[in-house]
Amino acid sequence: MTTNNRIPATLIPGDGIGTEITEATCAVLEALEAPFDWDMQVAGMAGVHAAGDPLPAATLDSIRRTRLALKGPLETPVGGGYRSSNVRLREEFKLYANLRPAQTVIPGGRFENIDLVLVRENNEGLYMGYEHFIPIDGDPHAVAIATGVNTRQGSRRIIEFAFEYAIAKGRKKVTVVHKANIMKALTGIFLETARDIYAQKYKDRIVMDEVIIDACAMKLVMNPWQFDVLVTTNLFGDILSDEIAGLIGGLGMAPGANIGEHAAIFEAVHGSAPDIAGRGIANPTALMLAAAMMLDHVRRPDLGDRMRKAIFDTLNVDKIRTGDLGGTASTKEYAAALVARVKNG
Ligand code: NAD
Repeated sequence: MTTNNRIPATLIPGDGIGTEITEATCAVLEALEAPFDWDMQVAGMAGVHAAGDPLPAATLDSIRRTRLALKGPLETPVGGGYRSSNVRLREEFKLYANLRPAQTVIPGGRFENIDLVLVRENNEGLYMGYEHFIPIDGDPHAVAIATGVNTRQGSRRIIEFAFEYAIAKGRKKVTVVHKANIMKALTGIFLETARDIYAQKYKDRIVMDEVIIDACAMKLVMNPWQFDVLVTTNLFGDILSDEIAGLIGGLGMAPGANIGEHAAIFEAVHGSAPDIAGRGIANPTALMLAAAMMLDHVRRPDLGDRMRKAIFDTLNVDKIRTGDLGGTASTKEYAAALVARVKNG
């Protein structure tokens, strides 16, 4: 629902570096006069501190109303503690597609001209959290068991999403990444479904190939240009997206979108970066590129393109960069340079 062409949207700054990169991103969105009416909410550790809940009811209600969110990283305790709020958000709003484009923005890095899109299944696989320990002889953690779940319907939905996306964007090839040689049922169903759908609907429209996850990881660093769009199951997609971020200058440069039928949540691929939180040095580019994807999503690609151009010019013409990219700018200095670029062209 829009009022005066304004678009209600939920803003979750998140944990760790979340506040710093969200402030920087919002400053640039404001300079662009982006049409979002923000409803600020908390989740993750900030949710625990503010409302005693890593995913407060008010945050869920807000997204139910806006169906659109920009989200900073949310901390998840390792080992024990609460279940990931990211995973719960993806389940709650059936955000089945995790779209992670990776493009070279700064030339002269280890890999030139990277232009890859990873499509990750977001609701199934080993992320379901069906895990337990079996105690033996007084050791409560003697045996650990995890069950992954992939369904025909879930595989079909994400594979069709990948093909439709690839065709709409004029891409040449979709690579299905799997481990069906070992996990013959869990990832076999994914590969089998991809082959069926391709034969039925896409074989005359685009190329499909297949690669086993371990070989894919190696090929990505040997010759990433052989890939175009990759589609894979949840955990493999999680791991490969960080690897792919490494091809374009690191996690500070990698945006993502979680897309479902009734909602979309935009975020950086990276986490809350506790090692640099509060120091004012985080690179906000990934969240800004996610905001540009959000502008495309609400049919304002004009503003998305201006955001991307400002980022390109600030990094490459003005050469203002944060430390992770070899520069010396603080998060605030970089954001100020971007705002100036947006205002002055
Ligand atoms: P991380 O992505 O937070 O950090 C990995 C490394 O990359 C760190 O050295 C960090 O300093 C660096 N880094 C990440 N983003 C950066 C940026 N914007 N600018 C400069 N450097 C950056 O991964 P982690 O340390 O494994 O995870 C920390 C927390 O984040 C965990 O609680 C994890 O569960 C959570 N996490 C959340 C999300 C999400 O909200 N979508 C994604 C991944 C991890």
